This record gives sequence, structure tokens and C-alpha cells, in this order.
Amino acid sequence: MKVMKFGGSSVSDSVRIASMIEIVESTHRAHPVCAVFSAMKGVTDTLLFAAREAAVGDPGYCARLRDIEERSQETCRALCTGDLLDATESAIHALCVELGQLLHGVDLVRECTPRTLDLIAGFGERLSCTIIANAMVCRGLPARYVDARTLIRTDETHGNAMVDFAASYDLIRAQLAGRPDDEVQVVTGFIAATDTGVSTTLGRNGSDYTASIVGAGLDVGSIEIWTDVDGVYSADPRFVSGAFVLPEISYREAMELSYFGAKVIHPYTMIPAVERGIELRIRNTLNPDAPGTRITATSSNAQTITGIASIESVALVNVEGGGMVGLPGIAGRLFSRLARERINTIMISQASSEHSICFVVRDDDAERAAKALRDEFARELHQKQIERVALERRLEIVAVIGENMRGKPGISGRVFTAVGDIGLNILAIAQGSSEMNISFIVPQEDRQKALNAVHHAFFPGGV
Ligand code: ASP
Ligand code: MG
Repeated sequence: MKVMKFGGSSVSDSVRIASMIEIVESTHRAHPVCAVFSAMKGVTDTLLFAAREAAVGDPGYCARLRDIEERSQETCRALCTGDLLDATESAIHALCVELGQLLHGVDLVRECTPRTLDLIAGFGERLSCTIIANAMVCRGLPARYVDARTLIRTDETHGNAMVDFAASYDLIRAQLAGRPDDEVQVVTGFIAATDTGVSTTLGRNGSDYTASIVGAGLDVGSIEIWTDVDGVYSADPRFVSGAFVLPEISYREAMELSYFGAKVIHPYTMIPAVERGIELRIRNTLNPDAPGTRITATSSNAQTITGIASIESVALVNVEGGGMVGLPGIAGRLFSRLARERINTIMISQASSEHSICFVVRDDDAERAAKALRDEFARELHQKQIERVALERRLEIVAVIGENMRGKPGISGRVFTAVGDIGLNILAIAQGSSEMNISFIVPQEDRQKALNAVHHAFFPGGV
């Protein structure tokens, strides 16, 4: 069996859905197919926005709901025919009525709990898969709609639920193994449920993760992630002219690259794949003949570095002062406080003089982080053990990634020479001891220059 996943841009309208169906059909001639789908592009954002509107009593959510239903019905009419057209139209309408009732409830109580938000957010996948399964049948491809809430068990961490793999694999096998070979399984991405049947979601862009959980449950050899780019690039092609598609990378490189901005695949996707040694392949629905990027345990890539990624809109918080030297517990208190404030740290660096600890957070969290730490260390600040909690905003993290960097001297020299040669100032540096990621901070306006300088230093001729 083949597991294929199509993202929101691959099912954004009837034309894209029709070409997606052709791709599924040609795979289906050789293998049974289980296909996982996202909501149509933009629908999840609209649902979340509508829920927020309803929670503050803004009637705008009614228009939002109408847009979603109209777009769904229009797509359905372009793809379905005969009795199935009527049945699909009614199914879409029923889903939208249920969604409308939920939003109305949120409007009445003027609050939207994370649990309700998860239920609302999942309608995008339920709608897209209802349309897709019936569109396949109308084109002569037998297909069955499968609600992933019957396949994936999670805890109740709404918005980003933790998967119970053992229970999910049992459910997946029970529901999907042993189905007729000629029937395409059309599985809703992103959504899951607790053991008491409460709807949850796997986090934004979680459909990739759905696909790898389903693939692991079915013990397939390979999972195809179909998206709208040719694969994972050596750097963001919007900023780096010589960027090229990487034919092969390792799971760990994929995880690092996807975390640091090359948002081709959700980083959690690799977890079940690593465990079961399943090959992932990134493919392009707009260019189905391109070979894409293969992701496996051991990539045969021989380049010194694999890729360069970046995260924009970050801020650097610097806690500094002579009194911190040799004082135990400062770092512990600092990061515990950030955890209590639910602020995620993206990068940490402390020089061995212990004069300062600096860390990087999302720019949106920066003011809150600085304020919390000024409060946490009020006594130390007053006694001048800590001189200041300083903030620098609108920065960019650049991360140089590759498993082949490990144990090889001179790489960071080349990275920083390249950046130094064009006169850029680096504000902080971090390298984990896994030696597969060297990260540094530059002002946001220097992003393009920094990415190009490093890319050119390692890939002088482009590909
Ligand atoms: N529809 C969900 C989202 O937009 C999941 C996905 O697209 O993978 O986050
Ligand atoms: Mg998406």
C-alpha cells in the first residue's frame, strides 16, 4: 500500500483537485492507495478567525461561514455529477449547518475554549475529504471517506495533541488494513480524538504528521508528501538565487531544516517514520515528473553542508551582569520563568565568562519575556548582581545544517568568514553538540546577504 498526502494548495480548488486525482489514479494502477488530505488552502485560517470573531460577538463569522460553504459547494459542483452531486451537496450543507450551530454557541457564550476551537478547526478537513472522496467516485475511482478521529488517539492537549501511537496503530490496522485493494482510502488530515471521543488536532500543518502515523500503522515502505514545491531546497529560493532541490537528506536534517523555516514538512512527521524506517518523499503536484526529495535514515549526500535555513522575526534577550558569575540557579530560574509564561525559547547561548545569558524568542514574545525576567530578577537587578535585561528586536536566525559537518574541522570558520567578508555583524552564535547545526543571529535586514554569502561559500556554482 502507498500512503500519499496532499496539502491545502494541492486541493485549493476544483482544477487542482482534478489534477491531484490524476496523480492518485496513476499510483493506484500499481498499488492500493491511502491518501491523506488537508483542508482547502486557507480554510483552517478562516475557521479559526471565525471562531475568534464569534467569541467576541462580531457577526462577521456568519459571512466567513457563508464563504466556506459557497467555496465548498462550487468545488463540489465542478467535480461531482448525478446522484452523487446531490448527496455531496447535502453532506456539505449538513456539515456547514453543524459548524454554524457551533459558532452560534460560541457567540452566545462569548468564549471559545481550546476544546471547542479544535472541533471548529477540524471542519476544513471534513469538508475537503467529503468533496474529494465523492469526486473520485464520480471519476470512476472507488473511494471511501475515513474520518481520522476513528484512527488517531491523542491526549487532551488541545491545539497540539500528543499521539498515543500504540492505540492509534491498532485502530489504523483495524480500519484500513484488509479493505478492498481497488478502494482509495480518503483520510482527513490534522484531526484526531481522545479515547472518550473528544475532537483534537495535531497542530497547525499537522496533516503531514497524520500521513506518517497512518503509514507507520500500516507499515508501508514509503510515504509521499505532495506539496507545491519541487522538494526541500538547499536554501529558501526566494532569497538565494543559486538554491537547488536536495535529492536526498536524512531524517535529522529534514527535522532541522523544517524547524528552521524550510516549511515543506511538519517536523513531527519524521517521528513515526524514524521509528519504522519509512522513506518519505516530497513531491510537487504542479510538477509531478520532478523526482522530489527523498528523506531516509542515512542519506548518501556527500556535500559538506546540506542546507541553510532561517527563522525571521525573532528577538534576542540578553541577561547580563558581573554578579552572575559563579551564582548557581540563575539559568534555572530564567528558563522556568519563561516556561511558566509559556514563552518558547528558540536558541540559547551563554559564554563561559558567565557574564551574560542570551536567548532567542519570537519577536511577538520579546516584550513579555523581558518584562517577566525583570520581575523575576527584581532583587538581583536592584542589587546590581544583574545589570540589565536587554532586548534586541527584528532579528533573523540563520542555521547551517548538515550531518556531514560532524567531526569535520573548519566548517564554522568558513561560515563566519563568509559572513564577515561582506561586513555583517553577528549578534550571537550557537552550536549544539550534535554538530549538525550552526546557528547565528543577524539583523533581519541582513538576512538575504547572510544566506547568500554562506550558500555561495559552500555551493559556489549553485548546484
Ligand atoms: N489544515 C490544517 C492547517 O492548515 C492542517 C494542514 O494543513 O496540514 O493547519
Ligand atoms: Mg497546510
